[in-house]
Amino acid sequence: MEIQRTANAGVLLKLDGVSILLDGLADRVEGYLPTPDRLADELLQNLPDVLAFTHNHPDHRSEALLLPYRKQNLRPIYGPESLPLSAVQVGEIRIIPVESRHLGRVEPGLQHISFVIEGSKCVWFMGDAAPAQWRGREDLPKPDVLIAPYAYANTKSAWDWTCSLTKQMVLLHLPDRENDPYNLWGAVEHTTQNRGDTALLIPSIGEKITF
Ligand SMILES: [Zn+2]
Repeated sequence: MEIQRTANAGVLLKLDGVSILLDGLADRVEGYLPTPDRLADELLQNLPDVLAFTHNHPDHRSEALLLPYRKQNLRPIYGPESLPLSAVQVGEIRIIPVESRHLGRVEPGLQHISFVIEGSKCVWFMGDAAPAQWRGREDLPKPDVLIAPYAYANTKSAWDWTCSLTKQMVLLHLPDRENDPYNLWGAVEHTTQNRGDTALLIPSIGEKITF
């Protein structure tokens, strides 16, 4: 399995011969990083099998970069307005939508889904789902890898939950260190000093991680 960060909070996941782009085309929003042109071009030349988006915020979904996919109907695009009602099978893997609540204040009408991807490994891609909604629930997947935003590692309660769920975490949605007005990097580094046996990976844009 390989995960390449392609955007602020997005990755290209390759698992069991299937490639899925998850929130992987993004615009710049304040300090949050956009998909570089070079990576957007590479994706168009090596099309992922499926594109999936957790919600319609431009730091997760760039309408401009999606245009060629939509115009030419290049690949299936899932969520949130084209929510699959149940799991979708693509080759050897299953993509399971998990309806969820977005982080922070409530935005009327905003749909949000996270995705659980099951194949020879299980990955849970959170998007911007709020961590607090999962606490105390017994019915959750146990992913080999959790891919989630900074909010899963910048407070002790969220980080403790993350460590109880998974042994490998890919943390996204961090801005440039040099342009970090909310000191998210500082909060994450402070909180995760004590990480037990959960590995924390923070890829830069373009970086690939093999599991
Ligand atoms: Zn969002």
